Amino acid sequence: MDNELPGCARCPFEPQGRICQDEGGQAPPFCPTVNKAQVIEKALEELKKPEILEFARQASIQEGEGYADRELGYARARPVKPRITEIIEFAGKMGYQKIGLAFCIALRKEAKVVEGLFAANGFTVVSGLCKMGRVPKETLGLRDDQKIKIGCFESMCNPIAQALLFNEEKTEFNVMIGLCVGHDSLFLKYAQAPCTVFAVKDRLLGHNPLAAIYTIDSFYRSLKVPTS
Ligand code: SF4
Repeated sequence: MDNELPGCARCPFEPQGRICQDEGGQAPPFCPTVNKAQVIEKALEELKKPEILEFARQASIQEGEGYADRELGYARARPVKPRITEIIEFAGKMGYQKIGLAFCIALRKEAKVVEGLFAANGFTVVSGLCKMGRVPKETLGLRDDQKIKIGCFESMCNPIAQALLFNEEKTEFNVMIGLCVGHDSLFLKYAQAPCTVFAVKDRLLGHNPLAAIYTIDSFYRSLKVPTS
């Protein structure tokens, strides 16, 4: 692997002994903390914008509040909040009132529950389903054999429309539930309000994509063999 290419995922050192966490810590040759000072500086410049600073500040407060027993030391700190609680609390901290909920038709039951939780906490919720607009998949140039329902009409996922709907409704914070790979990318590209992901889609693994990674040395060992 190229030693010039920033590669935190390849960092060989224990987390607490890395230079990004400890001034006297160690750094590999591809370390961005050492080699990319201008990037870190540019990021700090962004934090001079008051609205960005406030967003980042509240996110870090939320992060800390995700643990109990911090006063007993790092080794004793333990997580106490599920992600849904964190999203509700963070949106409250930011003073948001209107939330956009972008969801996949396959997760409609979950979206209904989440919408109810937001509403019960005083938020106004605008929601948009992936299939909104009933636009045929042929619009994307797909052949019939590339659809799921071969031989039938099939609405395409419409993440750009989901984003534009929320932009028009002036949502202040968008929450994504189960958008497909790539459709999620388009939603993020077109949405104007800041977004967070409540759940990602993994059709096979019950929306827990890390299950394949956790079992990479056993049931999912075949992933280690490149496909081409
Ligand atoms: S910033 Fe440097 S020390 Fe920290 S994880 Fe990345 S490569 Fe390792």
